[in-house]
Amino acid sequence: MTAAVETRWTTARIAAVERDGTRLVRLRLDVDGRQEHLPGQHYVVRLRASDDYTAQRSYSTASDPTDPLVELMVECLPDGEVSAHLHDVAEVGDVLEVRGPIGGWFTWTGDVTAVAIGGGAGVVPLVSMLRHARRLGIADRLRVVAVGRTLEELPYAEELIAAGAFVALTRENLGSRVAAPPYPEEVRDLVDLPTPAERAYVCGSVGFASFAQRVLGEAGMRASEVRVEQFGATG
Ligand SMILES: Cc1cc2nc3c(=O)[nH]c(=O)nc-3n(C[C@H](O)[C@H](O)[C@H](O)COP(=O)(O)OP(=O)(O)OC[C@H]3O[C@@H](n4cnc5c(N)ncnc54)[C@H](O)[C@@H]3O)c2cc1C
Repeated sequence: MTAAVETRWTTARIAAVERDGTRLVRLRLDVDGRQEHLPGQHYVVRLRASDDYTAQRSYSTASDPTDPLVELMVECLPDGEVSAHLHDVAEVGDVLEVRGPIGGWFTWTGDVTAVAIGGGAGVVPLVSMLRHARRLGIADRLRVVAVGRTLEELPYAEELIAAGAFVALTRENLGSRVAAPPYPEEVRDLVDLPTPAERAYVCGSVGFASFAQRVLGEAGMRASEVRVEQFGATG
């Protein structure tokens, strides 16, 4: 774990924009004076209107720390002030105000074996952890559970499946798995095998986070070893 580093506002140029499906936008940012992040950290993005009205929200990094660009994956919420702008309006070449990387608690560098459970956009920081683990050849230290309504709505679905994450869809069947949130037995297998996980990470909406913490408890994970990051209506 690194000591908290003072971060200042800087600017980032959008180097790539990719719209996946109807609700997700992947942004690749060239951040001025960028500091390397830890998997799990986030950036704050601040939008400024011509009358100087500003709105700022937090977005987790999806990129591996050694990626020269910072990757964000934003889910467009109905009438969401910032996510709708990033989804509908943002273009390559636009300059955003950003601050980061931020966060010291919800980070995983590979020092402990862990189970990580993300719901919807909550999988984004777990993707950074997975990419980091794969680059270092320590993928066996991180077991990821990704939960989405449908495969199309789940950010990074293909990459998560290819990396061996356990994917649970709640509104459509996936292979032989019937649509349902993850069962405690499914999570217990990941908590226990091949060696017991020392820590757990939970990321998603407030409702999802309480569900995932309960399931982890039923699967035998100690509450003191569970680190939670919640996405509220604003961040
Ligand atoms: C640490 C952290 C990391 C995050 N990482 C990500 C990430 O990687 N990807 C991601 O997509 N999100 C992430 N979030 C969530 C993100 O910060 C925003 O909360 C999200 O994008 C919504 O912001 P918005 O401005 O689009 O919507 P907001 O304008 O904040 O609105 C959110 C929702 O509430 C509704 N709403 C707003 N005001 C009212 C009201 N008065 N009455 C009723 N409904 C209302 C809106 O219609 C909308 O659906 C993260 C949050 C945190 C805290």
